[in-house]
Amino acid sequence: MQIKSKPLDFKVEWISFTNIFQQRSIFRLPFALTMLIALSLTIFAFVLTKDGESERQRLEFRKQAALLHQTLESKIQLNLDAIHALRDYHYGVEKLTFKGFTAFTKELLLRHPSINGVSFNPRISAEARADFELSIRREISPKFSIKERDPEGNIQNASRRSDYVTVAYIQPFDKNQKAFGFDVASNPVRKAALELARDTGSAVVTKRITLVQEKGKQAGVLAFVPVYSAKRTPITEEDRRKYLHGYMVGVFRVGDLLASALTGVSPKNISARLYEAEDSVFLAGYGGGKGLWDAEAEIVTNTVWWSQEFDFGGQKWRLELSPTKTILKNQSSSGAWLVLAGGLLFTSLLGIFLLFMTGYATRVEEEVIERTAKIKSVEGEVRKLSLAMEQSPNLTIITNTDGRIEYVNPAFESATGYMKEEVLGKNPRILRSGHTSKEEYEGLWQTIKVGSIWRGEMKNRRKDGSFYWALISISPVRDESEVITHFVSVQEDITKRKEAEKAILKAKEAAEAASQAKSEFLSNVSHELRTPLTSMNAAVKLLKDGTIPGVPEDAQEMIELIDRNGERLLSLINDILDFSKIEADKMELSLTSKNATEIIQQVVESMQGLAAEKGLELNYAVTSDLKILTDTQRIEQVLINLIGNAIKFTDAGNISVSVRESDGFAEFSVADTGCGIPSKQKESIFDSFAQADGSSTRKAGGTGLGLAISQRFIHLHGGKIWVNSEEGMGSTFYFTVPLTETKEK
Ligand code: ADP
Repeated sequence: MQIKSKPLDFKVEWISFTNIFQQRSIFRLPFALTMLIALSLTIFAFVLTKDGESERQRLEFRKQAALLHQTLESKIQLNLDAIHALRDYHYGVEKLTFKGFTAFTKELLLRHPSINGVSFNPRISAEARADFELSIRREISPKFSIKERDPEGNIQNASRRSDYVTVAYIQPFDKNQKAFGFDVASNPVRKAALELARDTGSAVVTKRITLVQEKGKQAGVLAFVPVYSAKRTPITEEDRRKYLHGYMVGVFRVGDLLASALTGVSPKNISARLYEAEDSVFLAGYGGGKGLWDAEAEIVTNTVWWSQEFDFGGQKWRLELSPTKTILKNQSSSGAWLVLAGGLLFTSLLGIFLLFMTGYATRVEEEVIERTAKIKSVEGEVRKLSLAMEQSPNLTIITNTDGRIEYVNPAFESATGYMKEEVLGKNPRILRSGHTSKEEYEGLWQTIKVGSIWRGEMKNRRKDGSFYWALISISPVRDESEVITHFVSVQEDITKRKEAEKAILKAKEAAEAASQAKSEFLSNVSHELRTPLTSMNAAVKLLKDGTIPGVPEDAQEMIELIDRNGERLLSLINDILDFSKIEADKMELSLTSKNATEIIQQVVESMQGLAAEKGLELNYAVTSDLKILTDTQRIEQVLINLIGNAIKFTDAGNISVSVRESDGFAEFSVADTGCGIPSKQKESIFDSFAQADGSSTRKAGGTGLGLAISQRFIHLHGGKIWVNSEEGMGSTFYFTVPLTETKEK
């Protein structure tokens, strides 16, 4: 394992980047915000300049408008004065004649060109109608009669009614011929004005009408000045009605009126409109480079900068004055637009500059962010590492290449009792105890110096002189250029483990010693028992055989008993001896190559008698001639044990022994038709002193060592032993022994 370190000199670069960032504080203003402010300022300046200019122009306009209004109003009023003058003329002459009227009005009309016509309309009662018509026919024209309009607007002779207000004298006659004889009272608009004039004694102007003599589309009005027979205006309304003689009438085309009032005075850049104030009925429009216009739709502009009402013969008229498009155009063409253009240019330049600068700033910023992230991640790693070291339960020591301590962690402090300050700059050998030789230390140093890792256990000495065991791993740390800069030593305190191991070792040794002693004791005792017992058994056999004469017949049964039990005792002692030998690992095999069939043959023959005693059939079947590598005595012992057990645990039936080849081994089997082995016992029958069923065994006899010893023998041969059995269905024991020569297949 190699740990690589990188020098942490980011700090210097970080500081220099921070400086750049701080100096260029403009970078921190978001580009969009700056542009928005610049644009807003431009628009603000534009609006301010524009407003200033238009305010100036509006002021200028209003001055002109006031003057215009005054001129117009007084000029229009003058026309009413002219009609009044005509009335005064009538009052002044004894009898008004067409001739006199014509003469007077000729002069008057010259002076007032905006008056389209003047007429005298006397009031004629129904009774006087015929005489009146006759007199006018005589005086002016034979075609004269009192006329009115039918519902379709055609002129016709007036129908009969109580009185008429008929155009009798009218000038200029040619122009107004159509109105000659027209009963103005026949029309409700005119009639209302007539009555108002009569009752008030003042001049009254009608609402907008279409004049009878109108050829174009102009709005017309009539101005009625009442004339009383008393040659002055009576004081009461009653008298005014009573003495009404007729009316002096002024005929006005409003357009002409407006045009003549404004011609010569109205500047080109102003247009004027006249309305009846009450219902905003359009009367006439003039100016704006279009001259006179009759329809409201022709309005040049909707912008109204002057609107004022004035009285004209009892009618409220409203004058509206508007600037022409040229003014409006001029208004926003100069300074303000310059300001706007200049501002936009500046904003664009600022934008380009900022884009350039912020692009640069963004790059710097990105680099700063990237580096900061890197530093943070390195910092994070360093922090994690240092936390890990600080909190590690393992002692950590970092030394430089001279072996001087540069860092120890808190685990080191608490395990050794040395504080960090005490060990910095020192060599870790301060921990050396007498248990580590100088040579070992030198070896360690040589290992790590060449860049390898040293691992090992060491008994170290604490500050207080006590010892601790450490499992140590020392690794060199390299820099990027593979040069070793430090060594990191991580030590695990294994004192407890070492102590435990020591204790276990001691206990093991003690147990081994005890077991040895027990085995030896058993072996000794068995030996001591076997020698006298063998002699005793031999002696009993002599008695039993009748070799010794004089043995009473009665004693024969007793001798049999002694012989049987003696043999059992000897077999037990032999088992114990074998077992203790195996346990003490003192059992050695003397291997020879033997014919498996021969071994079986011999054992089966020797046991025929025992089987016959129980009435059991014991036979063997051999399929092939197998040579096995074996300690013959031990294999015979195994077979004797297995066949003996089969006889013991079989009451009827037969026992068959066989051998066959299996995978380079000779597989022996001993099958019986006995009681079988309960399944829960099957696992443990090969353990020492294991007996399947106490009662049956007791009945059958045995030590519970037979199978355990057999198993050990087979294992010593390198073979296996196992059983197939079912309770009540008999058992088959198998074991394998290696063949001397493995046949080629
Ligand atoms: P023992 O000397 O008691 O026979 P073993 O180790 O030879 O001791 O056998 C252990 C036990 O296994 C026996 O006590 C018996 O319960 C069981 N056993 C062994 N062989 C047979 C068998 N052929 N049939 C039934 N049970 C058997």
